[in-house]
Amino acid sequence: MRVLAIGECMAELAPAATQGDYHLGFAGDTFNTAWYLARLRPDMHVSFFTAVGADDVSLRMRDAFLASGIDDTYVQTVTGSTVGLYMISLINGERSFSYWRGQSAARQLAADPHALAQAMIDVDLVYFSGITLAILDATSREVLVTALRTARAAGKTIAFDPNLRPHLWSSPSEMTEAIMQGAAVSDIALPSFEDEAAWFKDADPMATADRYAAAGATTIVVKNGADAVHHREGAAFGNVSVPPLKHVVDTTAAGDSFNAGILAGLQDNIPMEKSITLACRLAGAVVQGKGALVSIDPVHLDP
Ligand code: ADP
Repeated sequence: MRVLAIGECMAELAPAATQGDYHLGFAGDTFNTAWYLARLRPDMHVSFFTAVGADDVSLRMRDAFLASGIDDTYVQTVTGSTVGLYMISLINGERSFSYWRGQSAARQLAADPHALAQAMIDVDLVYFSGITLAILDATSREVLVTALRTARAAGKTIAFDPNLRPHLWSSPSEMTEAIMQGAAVSDIALPSFEDEAAWFKDADPMATADRYAAAGATTIVVKNGADAVHHREGAAFGNVSVPPLKHVVDTTAAGDSFNAGILAGLQDNIPMEKSITLACRLAGAVVQGKGALVSIDPVHLDP
């Protein structure tokens, strides 16, 4: 299976062991999923579609893609621009985040409809998120959604994590409308119940699944933190309980890594319950480590 993840990767400054020092890393929701997918299934061809600058940090980011086994063929260069940045601060053990991403090159990732169309021709599955939609202006968002619709009509599988982030949108209604436009071009929806309940007023995970099914998705997996995962494929549905963990360290990228487990299961053509078990094992390992990208040994994860 050839996978194309579309979105923004940012430079990350995380506190290092020595007070005042920072470690430079790279992370971002769809990139995190691509990163875990490349780790879980080294035989899978995983590409990342984004835009970066031509400066040093952008080149380092591209090097990080390649070093992670992620193809950078569809990374576009916007000369004179750069990548977004976030810094993690630790105050009494609690993490807080500062972002500089308003001008990031990734906001122009949908500037060239031909580049989008070409990248989608070469793959079997396209993965994007609500954050991918949020960083684009309305015109670029329409270009991306149109490209996804065309790719789906041509037989590509489209997978979508709504990843609701109200601070990236000008209003809640702009966010919820755009998310449902994304859902309308997707085969697979991977929402998180807590966010969906907050912004769509869903009473329970079944209501979330109903809404994405009504939008046109045929496979829906509703994450719900430590609570059971609800899944639906057409008329079939079920719940898979999440193995309890004694010690949760950091839930960053829980959902992103979970999604990688589901996409890996698709390649293996295994039943959805088994894919969810794999996804929960991976996300469970990730929340017991620090940061978005946690080194995992995939050998012990497969159900
Ligand atoms: P998101 O990060 O998108 O909000 P969730 O918080 O629902 O997603 O978590 C995604 C997955 O991560 C869950 O389905 C579960 O497998 C795992 N997970 C998250 N929090 C916990 C937890 N406290 N205990 C065990 N597993 C967890």
